[in-house]
Amino acid sequence: MEYRRIKGTRDILPEEGLIRKRIFSIAENLFLTFGFLPISTPVFEQTELFVRGIGEASDIVQKEMYTFLDRSNRSLTLRPEGTAPVVRAYIENNLSSFRFPSKLFYIMPMYRYERPQKGRLREFWQIGVEVFGAPGPDVDSEVIFLMVEYFKKLGLKNFTTEINTIGCRKCRPLFLDKLVEFLNEHSEDLCSDCRKRIDLNPLRVFDCKNERCITLLKDAPKVSESVCEECLLHFEGVMNHLRMLNVDFEVNPFLVRGLDYYEKTTFEVKSPLLGAQSAIGGGGRYDPLVKECGGEDTPGLGFAIGVERLLMQLEEEGIVPQIEIGTDVYIVSYRGLETKAFEVANQLRKIGIKTEYDYLKRSMKAQFKQADKLGAKVSVIVAPEEHERNLVKLRNMITGEENLVSYDEVVGLIKTMVEKVDERCQ
Ligand SMILES: [Zn+2]
Ligand SMILES: [Zn+2]
Repeated sequence: MEYRRIKGTRDILPEEGLIRKRIFSIAENLFLTFGFLPISTPVFEQTELFVRGIGEASDIVQKEMYTFLDRSNRSLTLRPEGTAPVVRAYIENNLSSFRFPSKLFYIMPMYRYERPQKGRLREFWQIGVEVFGAPGPDVDSEVIFLMVEYFKKLGLKNFTTEINTIGCRKCRPLFLDKLVEFLNEHSEDLCSDCRKRIDLNPLRVFDCKNERCITLLKDAPKVSESVCEECLLHFEGVMNHLRMLNVDFEVNPFLVRGLDYYEKTTFEVKSPLLGAQSAIGGGGRYDPLVKECGGEDTPGLGFAIGVERLLMQLEEEGIVPQIEIGTDVYIVSYRGLETKAFEVANQLRKIGIKTEYDYLKRSMKAQFKQADKLGAKVSVIVAPEEHERNLVKLRNMITGEENLVSYDEVVGLIKTMVEKVDERCQ
């Protein structure tokens, strides 16, 4: 084999494709109920959008972007996350005039040059939502509720919801001063990455996976202890609304999230089953971002769910949705009568019945074998003797029952048979 897929990418094969289709449609239906409308953005954007929108100092911009020059020497980047492009689209298309506040959702692939490991790929999918123009804590809680509801709808049980406040433009600088002071005092005990973060992006030390750093940072100043009155009230509002919605949550004072533009509320849904990659989804409020990207000062917030992690979690919990890859009807035809099979098959498909027939002029035996393999509920047998009398044989593959019917009735009868079998199977 000469060609192989690129490291960190995978092929989504039919069975998984159907499972994804299912979990996407559950998401879409739920999001629509909450008033979110779909949006898609291009796979690549101007590099500057991500540098600006995610933050120069973030890990994504520093070391994970797929950036390249196109043939006109423009610097482009493959979308590493969904928020910045959706913000760009919101501003560029003046979506606020269409509906304000605006609630949007997306299901899109993302690209990051990360070290591939379990649950971490270079091409991965995210399901996300963004809300523009709603400043109150009720919306934060609604967005968290929406994510939790989605996981519950999929049947997940083994997860926890963590929330935190990381302050705002006004109060965070004070906290950062305290944190930097603490980090400088202990810089010898920090890992080399964290030492770099002191100057570059001190909040990110809380994402460090190094055991020594984690232990040390337990004594670090907590952002929630130095936030301003406004941030505190907002956070209390979020918690109160979450209680009204009966969402179980824990406050994790160290939950800062990786992206630079978050402020006030951050949240994550984690699973103990996923090891180091424990977050299935997360998000937060990013009030400064729309303005930062060139729009009017508009509050924003959202979340993103990692589809591959979600699939891992479904598997861990043993609740991967059951999908059907088979066919409803298989048409078996004698040599010379293939055209009749072709005709009936396409009549049935037209009315929404999954139908297959033999493309390869195989023997009757082989055709029946194929019908079994595809799990056909009904097979149609086109045989010369019956065909001359304008008849065809139907076999109920579950009961083995057979009857002869005319071509005029065949479509209607099969429809009823398939529906009956479906009922029995449910
Ligand atoms: Zn504040
Ligand atoms: Zn560290």
